[in-house]
Amino acid sequence: MIIKSKISLFFLLIIIGYYFLYLEYQNMIIINNVNPIIQLETEQNKNDKIDNKIIITKENPNENIEEITNIDIKNDSGDEKYNKIEVIVSKGQTFFSILNKYNFTNQKIFEIVNKVEKIFNLNNLKVDQKIIFFQNTLQDIKKIQIIISVDQILDIKIEDDIIVKKKQLAKAYYQESKKFTILNSLYADGINNKLPKDILIKLIKLFSFDLDFQRDIRSGTIVSVSYDYNHIIENNNYQYKDINYAMISINGKEIEYFKFLTDEGYVDYFNREGKNVKKSILKTPLDGARISSNYGMRKHPISGFNKMHKGVDFAAPKGTPVYAGGNGVIEYVGNNGGYGKYIRIRHNNEYKTAYAHLSGYKKGISKGIRVNQGEVIGYVGSTGKSTGPHLHYEIIFQNKQINPLKLNLPSGKILEGNELKKFITEYKKIYANHLNLLYE
Ligand SMILES: [Zn+2]
Repeated sequence: MIIKSKISLFFLLIIIGYYFLYLEYQNMIIINNVNPIIQLETEQNKNDKIDNKIIITKENPNENIEEITNIDIKNDSGDEKYNKIEVIVSKGQTFFSILNKYNFTNQKIFEIVNKVEKIFNLNNLKVDQKIIFFQNTLQDIKKIQIIISVDQILDIKIEDDIIVKKKQLAKAYYQESKKFTILNSLYADGINNKLPKDILIKLIKLFSFDLDFQRDIRSGTIVSVSYDYNHIIENNNYQYKDINYAMISINGKEIEYFKFLTDEGYVDYFNREGKNVKKSILKTPLDGARISSNYGMRKHPISGFNKMHKGVDFAAPKGTPVYAGGNGVIEYVGNNGGYGKYIRIRHNNEYKTAYAHLSGYKKGISKGIRVNQGEVIGYVGSTGKSTGPHLHYEIIFQNKQINPLKLNLPSGKILEGNELKKFITEYKKIYANHLNLLYE
């Protein structure tokens, strides 16, 4: 019974983990597409700080933003004794309809809305956004705050005149490093070791090209990670930023990544050799081959029937080496009906590749063996239902064959020359800093 419930807890945690991974993935797409400035700012922050010294950052210095200090807050709630009323924007509500609930004259409401619109587009007011009304002892609203984001508020002072200001809340910038051994699952042990959920999700995403979390992560796996965060003093919120360094060690084999701002201005992750974390699956897993049959409907050369061709055929001389299309684990190696001598590699939870009609397998290739992208796994042949030496190559996504030539995975960049030099200097700093934070 205990074992059973442990197992179901384990799977539940995996499911939760993937759910958050999915959410984060959606998030990442949005952030990457819309706001590269965010990433650049993070980079600036990093250059500003020394170890985990606190720095009060002020972003967007060109905007009309005023910083709040703790003294300000005391004045708000201390001297004048305001009663704070928190309103959460619900569906269908507008700022106008919310203001209407308080004892403002219509003229005052128009005046407030007009002034606010000059600085903040009220169409951007979202469901669940927080608005705070500050009421004095005479029941008059003297101030309104619209919480724009975790670290930005819109401050509306209501006197004879109405003064609207966007305020950047003061933040303390920190860096933190954690190292732990997995006893259960990456997700469960991450939470147990007080790794923030936001960082945990980023960590899972970062390693998703290298690891199949369900299979690879075992008890005893070591995880080491370094990341940035802001503490927003006024509202006691935390803003988790980028992972700077991450390492997962399985059976003594370390996979590690360092954050780096590329010359093109993208924050990305690279290993010590300067290879990007994103490893696209090879579209052509052998050299000098020509496509002899494409993916799609065709008349089968042997049966003569019209049939869906679920792979790409590459004509090549017998014995031509075949490469692993990506990093992964050999899932199948052996005879497989019409496929003849066949290899299938599992790359991660979603992607697999298959290689058919081989003449033979590379020595040492067997089920459960880990292979790296570009490593020779076998040789072109004509075994199974085949009319001549060729490689039949399939890319399998969520257990269905897809057209390899239309595969649209991000391809990995390899740093070279000056950029590589810059990266090496950078990663050494990151690593030294990480060790400092861990062992100081
Ligand atoms: Zn084929």
